[in-house]
Amino acid sequence: MSTTHQLDGHMTGTAGPPSDGDSGHRTAGLITIDSVVKRFDGPDVLRSVSLDAQPREMVALLGPSGCGKTTLLRSIAGLERIDRGRIDIDGTTVSGPGIHVRPEDRRIGMVFQDWALFPHLSVGANVGYGLGRDDRRSGRVEETLELVGLGGLGDRYPSTLSGGQQQRVALARALAPRPRALLLDEPFSNLDTNLRIQVRTEVHRLLTELGVTTVFVTHDQEEAFVLGDRVAVMNAGVIEQLATPATIYETPASRWVADFVGEANLLEGDAHGHRASTLIGSVNLDVARTGAVDVVIRPEHLVLEPGHDAVVELVEYYGHDHVSIVAYPDGRRFRVRATGAPRFERGQSVTVRSDGSPSSGFPVG
Ligand code: ATP
Repeated sequence: MSTTHQLDGHMTGTAGPPSDGDSGHRTAGLITIDSVVKRFDGPDVLRSVSLDAQPREMVALLGPSGCGKTTLLRSIAGLERIDRGRIDIDGTTVSGPGIHVRPEDRRIGMVFQDWALFPHLSVGANVGYGLGRDDRRSGRVEETLELVGLGGLGDRYPSTLSGGQQQRVALARALAPRPRALLLDEPFSNLDTNLRIQVRTEVHRLLTELGVTTVFVTHDQEEAFVLGDRVAVMNAGVIEQLATPATIYETPASRWVADFVGEANLLEGDAHGHRASTLIGSVNLDVARTGAVDVVIRPEHLVLEPGHDAVVELVEYYGHDHVSIVAYPDGRRFRVRATGAPRFERGQSVTVRSDGSPSSGFPVG
């Protein structure tokens, strides 16, 4: 869905004065989503989704393809009508029973996956597209181009700019009408890997400086973690966990989240309070459990010792650290991450142990 959209959805920036009267973007920008349900023809695509984005906060919507991320973003923008629940912006209901404020009246800026710049319009005309005549005349276009580091490029055409610059034009267009919040749909997926990291950092810095509430969609865990103050992990139309990246990584709410977010080793255990017996010996648990559990251990919480339980099958060297993929005779494999140069080579016999860090254990069944 996120690649197809109608022209009127290319960029929903809105004309209108800044609500707090300051020079830029620091309008309140509180978004509250309460029990939102959305369906198209079939089953519910959003199943009672609740979420908030605080003023100035960056919230990532992270999840696999088809989980409903884009539909949620488009619902906030007003490009989709919700079936149940409520969406408020700064305390005013914009979607709810009998209420659907038009996208252009929500004062929300949106940047789509393909940026959707108009190729036949100059950069300045692209940025001024959602502005009223007064704003265009007042120098707002050039001011916004300066803001995103593209001052003086207003007469150029999008095709003459680099991918990173085009991305900033799309951002400028969304920011020009001083939106209360920004919505970004996979904003970096058009860029190749090296440029993506650079542009991501630039955009991160810019949005942090501007202090504009931002909700963005990504299926890239790293992007969600790097940019998101909080991350909403979505699966099949529900939010499985909404928390800071560190909380999600260290204390995932479910086995599914643990597996989806970051690398995870899964193994069966028999829990007795804060410890579980497993194939690799005793493992500490973050929460006391009893009986059969699935234990999730991050690769950096495993260590290798000389031994005879398993064999190093592969070593992946990353510079800052390395990962050993270790195979047990029954075919089970573990990823073990350690800093520095590899101590064990491919083919060597080893034993895998926990480093004692608490891991998550999820009751089976
Ligand atoms: P992706 O990362 O692939 O873009 P997503 O998490 O953003 O996925 P959505 O685009 O929100 O997922 O789609 C969620 C579900 O809703 C999918 O099953 C999709 O086919 C369906 N869907 C989305 N828009 C429509 C529509 N206009 N009509 C019918 N079904 C739709």
